Amino acid sequence: MSDGAKILIVEDNELLLALLRRALEQEGYEVVPAPNGLEMMKVLYASKPDLVVLDVGLPDVDGRDLLAALKKDPRTFAIPVLVWSGGSAESDRRIALELGAEDYVQKGAPSALVPKIQRVLYRLSEREIKNARASAPPKKPVA
Ligand code: CA
Repeated sequence: MSDGAKILIVEDNELLLALLRRALEQEGYEVVPAPNGLEMMKVLYASKPDLVVLDVGLPDVDGRDLLAALKKDPRTFAIPVLVWSGGSAESDRRIALELGAEDYVQKGAPSALVPKIQRVLYRLSEREIKNARASAPPKKPVA
């Protein structure tokens, strides 16, 4: 039950990427994979993902720099980013959240990540419904 939201996964570990991809596709998500920062920037604007899962340790760029760049760009700042990192330190988590990540997930089985993704997308859809209500034109008074 996920109405086919599109998820961009940035992960250089092929095995992990394949595992995540399978788990998310089983949940009905559409997955756009990117093995590094350069590929991510190539597919980002065209694919218009609903959410980005971002590995911090990438071969070409620091995931934190990518996150900061995404959050500065008016085209992408509204896309929720889940930072997916091998580090368990509280400082990693704090840095990710300070840079604008929606959440931080320690690397492990996809089973830990999938519910987080679902929660973020759910929160987002709730927000959209509220915004739509708030901006709806006022009803005409009944004469
Ligand atoms: Ca990595």
